[in-house]
Amino acid sequence: MVNESQLWKTHVTKDDNKRYKNNGTHKESWCNYCIRHEARQLRSAQLDAVSMGARTDEAESEAVLEKRVRDNTNPRPSKVKEWWEHLAKKCAHVPDHVKEEAQRELEMRRQKEDHNRRVRDANKENSAQSLPAIVAPSSVPATPSRTIILSRTESLASVNSTISPNHSTPESSLSPHGRSGLIPSSMDGSPPYYGEIFSQTQPWSEARQAEFAADLCRLVIVCNMAWLAVEMPYWRAFFAKWLPSALMPGRQELSGRVLNEEADKVVAEMKVKVEGRYGTGQCDGWKNVSKTSIIGTMVNVEYTPHILHVDNVTDKPKTAVELLKLVEREIRYAVEVLKVVIVAWCTDASGESAKMRRLLVRKMPHLVVVDCWAHQKINLFCVKINLIVGDIFKITHRFVEIINNALEVVKWFNNHSRALGLLRDAQMAKFGLTLTLILPVLTRWTSHYLSVTRLVKLELAFKQLLLDAGENLEVLIVCAGTKADAKRKAKEVLDILERPDFWPDLRS
Ligand SMILES: [Zn+2]
Repeated sequence: MVNESQLWKTHVTKDDNKRYKNNGTHKESWCNYCIRHEARQLRSAQLDAVSMGARTDEAESEAVLEKRVRDNTNPRPSKVKEWWEHLAKKCAHVPDHVKEEAQRELEMRRQKEDHNRRVRDANKENSAQSLPAIVAPSSVPATPSRTIILSRTESLASVNSTISPNHSTPESSLSPHGRSGLIPSSMDGSPPYYGEIFSQTQPWSEARQAEFAADLCRLVIVCNMAWLAVEMPYWRAFFAKWLPSALMPGRQELSGRVLNEEADKVVAEMKVKVEGRYGTGQCDGWKNVSKTSIIGTMVNVEYTPHILHVDNVTDKPKTAVELLKLVEREIRYAVEVLKVVIVAWCTDASGESAKMRRLLVRKMPHLVVVDCWAHQKINLFCVKINLIVGDIFKITHRFVEIINNALEVVKWFNNHSRALGLLRDAQMAKFGLTLTLILPVLTRWTSHYLSVTRLVKLELAFKQLLLDAGENLEVLIVCAGTKADAKRKAKEVLDILERPDFWPDLRS
């Protein structure tokens, strides 16, 4: 049968070492989808129980539970036709495309049996009339069958469909109660938990459940939430109340299996867009917030960049040879997996990057290697702007003085929380909202402008602050402390604010 190997490879697990009940032909076997569904139900129930405090141990992983469920489930004989019938008609957890494949497979088998029966009948008739026998073809022409590509996790999942008499079936115990926190005692060896049981709900189909998990994964990422959120008691209670049919995954599944499936989808979409086209590879390194050294690689195909990989290289030497290994791996991936024609590779102008490019072009002379134009341009740009700003500062002494005074005010208020608090009160009283004072950053060229603009916006609040203090500026002065130095600095800042030309100068 054309799809028989597919049956044993992805849909059904067969234990080649164990005969089914001393059966001379058939082995023990289980439906992967039923086993996986049962394990996920248990995992979700265990996570619920942990979040409700009904279980003190950590929830077990899906892999452990799958093995447990299979060990506790009666096997079936490895009869090919019966398994296709299970997948086509009986299995409640099989994905739609597998069900369709099973139905096609059964139809093919039916046609073959019909054909053979007709041949047999004809031969019987012929032998009765002493005519030559008709030879049946060894196989019926197979209708093209779709290849099922399952994820890594799916292919690893174990099997089964018949739950042993001692154990409740997914349909009889777990599904009818939804995600109730009910853990069958037979599965984890602990006494049964008789907690709150939600009303009976219709379980979702495999496809709907997968779509829910994928959307949830995206939601958590887009909202910048911690994976842990899905295991929080309130989260689980919320979904159990409003979406009782949804099987809530844990953080392990969401950040592992589900995320990998989503990433595979992205790569599949990318392949379609880049296959057979010319592309330029590029890589660059940076440190993330936790000071981990990262190198990201991308390929630019017809003006559209696509991310290849992001590598953690914290524990690796920062040398050209090490970078070359990474770039060679990425080129292989782009060429062999994505089928992109890599024509060039681009890096920044750092020493090890430049050396790596020289080594790369020696190994792959057909490549064009280039410095990142933007990096050079930014460097040049920065130098030029620095020079320009420097020139303005030199030429326009008055301008420098105004900016310096503005910065003194911003820095002093930002550094003294009591003063900042009083300014915020004044803003609330004046505008009904509070805005932050912006300290300019040297390499962000518009930030000086934004800083001054913000200060001008708050002019009335500053004036109100001074007005409220009235003659008693001491309240503001001691915001910085009672030391002579601190008081002197505070007076300087307040002097700036009280100067009649300070605000008109800033506005101009
Ligand atoms: Zn099944």
